[in-house]
Amino acid sequence: MIKTIGILGGGQLGRMMAIAARTMGYNIVVLDPTPNCPCAAVADKQIVAAFDDVEAAKELLTSCDLITYEFENVNQNVANALSAKLPQTSELLRITQNRILEKQTINDAGLKTVAYKSICNRKELEVFVEDYKANVRNIIIKTVQGGYDGKGQYVIKTADELNDFVVSKYNENIEYVAEDFIHFNKEISVIVCRNASGEISIFPVAENIHKNQILHQSIVPARVSNNIIIKANDIALQLATHLNLVGTLAIEMFVCGDDVVVNELAPRPHNSGHYTLNACATNQFEQHIRAVCNLSLSDTKLFTPVVMLNVLGQDTNLMKQENMGKNKLHLYGKTEAKVDRKMGHINVLRESVDKCLIEVEKLLNFNNQ
Ligand code: ADP
Ligand code: MG
Repeated sequence: MIKTIGILGGGQLGRMMAIAARTMGYNIVVLDPTPNCPCAAVADKQIVAAFDDVEAAKELLTSCDLITYEFENVNQNVANALSAKLPQTSELLRITQNRILEKQTINDAGLKTVAYKSICNRKELEVFVEDYKANVRNIIIKTVQGGYDGKGQYVIKTADELNDFVVSKYNENIEYVAEDFIHFNKEISVIVCRNASGEISIFPVAENIHKNQILHQSIVPARVSNNIIIKANDIALQLATHLNLVGTLAIEMFVCGDDVVVNELAPRPHNSGHYTLNACATNQFEQHIRAVCNLSLSDTKLFTPVVMLNVLGQDTNLMKQENMGKNKLHLYGKTEAKVDRKMGHINVLRESVDKCLIEVEKLLNFNNQ
C-alpha cells in the first residue's frame, strides 16, 4: 500500500502535487537543494540535497513507497537509483530531456514536428552553416538539454546572425538543435494522464499566449476549430500510447492552418494546466497522483470558461489577495521575487472567455499602475 510519496524537486509543481497528494491522505517527502523550498511547507519532510546526489536519492527511496518528479532534467544516475519506485520510468525522462530524441520519438509515433537539424558537434555546425547560406530563413537554435522558458534559445534571421552565434555563443561542449521558425496561428497544449492499467484521461485543450517566451496566459476553452481540438486530442492519445505513459504528459503544440505540429513535451503537470485547479472537476495534480499510484483516473470536465494569468516576480500588484476580487490567486510561497520568476498564478473564471479576458485586461492595467 502506498502511504508516503517522494517528490524530486520542491518548486511550485512539487508543492501543488504535494497539496493534492495530502488531500488524498498521503504523506510527502521532498528532495530539493534549497532549504524551505515551496514544497517544504506542505511536506512532512525535506531532504536538503543536490539533485545529482545519489546517496540523497537513496535516502528518498527508503523513506517513500513511490517517487515522482516535478521536472524532467533528472540526473540519469539518480533516475536509475530511484527506478524501483519510479512508475514513470527513467526512459520517459531520457526522451524528454533531449530535444532531438524527443522530436525523433514524436516522429516515430507518426506525428509532425517542425523541420530541424542537429548541431551536436563542430562538423555538424560546419555543415549546417553551409546549408544555411544556401537557404537563409528564420530559425531558432536551442540547446538540446536543459532549456526552459526560452533559456538557451537564439533566434537567427540572417547569415550574419548565424555567424555571430558561431563566433560568440556556440560552445562545442553543448549540443544544439536548429529549428525552422514556424509562423503559427496559435499555440495550444494538452495534458494527458495515463495509469499503469492503461486508463487514459485528457484535459481540455488550452490556448497559450507567451510573453518573452514565458507562458503569460492560458485560455480555456481554446479559441480553435473543433477539427483542431480533435487533432490535439488524437495527438495526446497517440503519444500516451506510443510512450506507454505512466503519469502525466504535457504536449505543447503549434496550430498552423489546419495542421497541428508538436513543439515539445513535458513528463509532468504543466504551467498551462494550472487552470484545472479551479475550472475542472479534477485538477492536473490530483490526476497525476492518481496516475502514478495506479488509481482510477477522475473526471476532467471543464465547469467554466477560464483564463489563467501567470504572476511573475515583477508583478507586485498581482501578488496581493486583497486586490483579487473574486479571482483565484495561487501563490507558491517563494521568498524572493526575482524578475521573471514564477511567483503564482491567477485563475479568472467568468461565464465566457471574452468576459474572462476583459477581467484579465483590468488586472494587467492595475498591475501597470
Ligand atoms: P521552452 O518552453 O523549453 O523554453 P519552447 O521550445 O517551448 O522551449 O520555446 C518557447 C517558446 O518559443 C514557444 O512556446 C514558442 O512561443 C516559441 N518557439 C519555440 N520554437 C519555435 C519555433 N520553431 N518557431 C516559432 N516559435 C517557436
Ligand atoms: Mg515550451
